[in-house]
Amino acid sequence: MATDVIIVGAGPTGLSLACQLIRYGIDFVILDKKEMTTPYSKAIGVQARTLEIYEQIGLADKLIEQGAIAAKARMVAGGKVRGEVEFGEFGKGLSPYPFVLIVEQGKHEKILYDFIKANGKDVLWSTELENFTQDETGVKTNVKNVNGETETIEAKFLVACDGAKSPVRGALGLKFEGSTFERLFYVADVQIDWKFSHDALHVFLLKNNLLAFFPMVGDKHHRIVGTFPEEFAKDEGEVLYEEIEERIKQDTELNLDITNVNWFSTYKAHTRHVNKFSAGRCFLAGDAAHIHTPAGAQGMNTGIQDSYNLAWKLAMVLHDQAKEKILETYNEERLGNAENLLKTTDRLFNLVASPDVLLSYFRTHVFPYIAGAAFSLDAIKKFVFPRVSQIGINYRHSSLSENIAGDFKVKAGDRMPYFTVDGKSIYDRLHQPKFHLLVFSNDEIDFQDLGNEIREDSVDFSFALLSPEVKEIFGTEKLFIILLRPDNYIGLISAEISLVKVKNYLEQL
Ligand SMILES: Cc1cc2nc3c(=O)[nH]c(=O)nc-3n(C[C@H](O)[C@H](O)[C@H](O)COP(=O)(O)OP(=O)(O)OC[C@H]3O[C@@H](n4cnc5c(N)ncnc54)[C@H](O)[C@@H]3O)c2cc1C
Repeated sequence: MATDVIIVGAGPTGLSLACQLIRYGIDFVILDKKEMTTPYSKAIGVQARTLEIYEQIGLADKLIEQGAIAAKARMVAGGKVRGEVEFGEFGKGLSPYPFVLIVEQGKHEKILYDFIKANGKDVLWSTELENFTQDETGVKTNVKNVNGETETIEAKFLVACDGAKSPVRGALGLKFEGSTFERLFYVADVQIDWKFSHDALHVFLLKNNLLAFFPMVGDKHHRIVGTFPEEFAKDEGEVLYEEIEERIKQDTELNLDITNVNWFSTYKAHTRHVNKFSAGRCFLAGDAAHIHTPAGAQGMNTGIQDSYNLAWKLAMVLHDQAKEKILETYNEERLGNAENLLKTTDRLFNLVASPDVLLSYFRTHVFPYIAGAAFSLDAIKKFVFPRVSQIGINYRHSSLSENIAGDFKVKAGDRMPYFTVDGKSIYDRLHQPKFHLLVFSNDEIDFQDLGNEIREDSVDFSFALLSPEVKEIFGTEKLFIILLRPDNYIGLISAEISLVKVKNYLEQL
């Protein structure tokens, strides 16, 4: 079998890469040693940036239909509610999806898989990558197929979306350094009969442990995530469910009736990232490249964005629109992001679970009483939402980012901010899988010539008036242009209308 891209692993990262390659018209083979998409709830927090990406391929609404919006959080200590934070429309005005969506990974993966099948492709299930070799022209893989026979699949590129233990990463000799948390985490999907209403995330403020109940779709259905104390010295898989239930009841100090345990698991959390996201013609994405604590619901969303970043670059190379050098920017952009992510999730985890005396006092005695007021402040929302939702990720230091002329609040390398033009989302104009040249001006001058001159297969053209909203967001009163990359990050921004600069940018690719 021969193809352009072989994707190893059909978890959320691999499936979303397949969806993007379909969007760009790239031939691929995707395989997984599992029999089917996961039946479990696993990663449940879907961030705004992921929904923005899915909107481009018509999947955002499908996911929203299957999930619930996390509307508020209650802080509980000593069996009593001590504070409440509303965050339904937390990021209002910053994204068309100003919330965290709660949807089980099983349903999420199924939506991606259905998209793949609706586009005439399929996953090779029960098919395991055994080994591979690569040279300057391609990658040759040996896989064990569903009948137990070894087959050869050749591809121009390989993307390893094969999870935290990534056999591909090992074979490439890449490092995966970091640390492992001593404490054992547990996760359980259950039904709970208790005195609190089902419309909120419940965070238990404990001296030295993490414990949170996430409301899921379905009557009394909750996801529980927690940690055992440090002195509980057992390994992953050695713990009985009864020990977990006992710990939950002790920590909540509540009389809980827990039934219908759909799934439970224990694990050690790691904080690690790979030293390089690629080696030759092989790339790593998702948990294969970075793992961290579940604080902030970031892992799966980051894997989906790795895929989104890599897909357009692979597509441009395979369509002969860019030199292979562009593929180096995948490591340049996503390694820096992974490093930041690990620092942020570690800090967040310490804030919610560290046994440090000061932090513990703040968490149990101060935070519950100030949280409601603090989170209602616009400034806090504007600081927290972009980080949690991942819309604030930028590639300002990337070699693909060029600030040409003018001083804007928004820089090259930023995600295209969200705003409306004539009552419609700007993103409605940005669905095509290509570069977009946008001109913003105070006058309805006819820019058609400009549009005609730049219009190529890989660029489309759009004009909008400088509305007060656009002026405020970009920090300018005057005409400017933006060249947006196919992943809707700003490649070039300039106060001069210069087609030469735009053409140079594209030619350099
Ligand atoms: C309790 C918990 C809660 C979490 N909650 C969230 C959350 O709310 N939001 C969030 O963003 N993240 C969350 N995460 C993290 C998230 O689950 C992971 O980041 C995500 O599943 C990684 O997806 P992936 O596709 O990269 O890897 P995986 O889902 O691990 O998929 C890898 C796939 O590769 C396959 N594979 C491996 N080796 C081979 C081989 N040799 N041949 C063929 N196939 C192979 C495997 O079978 C597997 O299907 C959570 C994690 C945990 C443990």
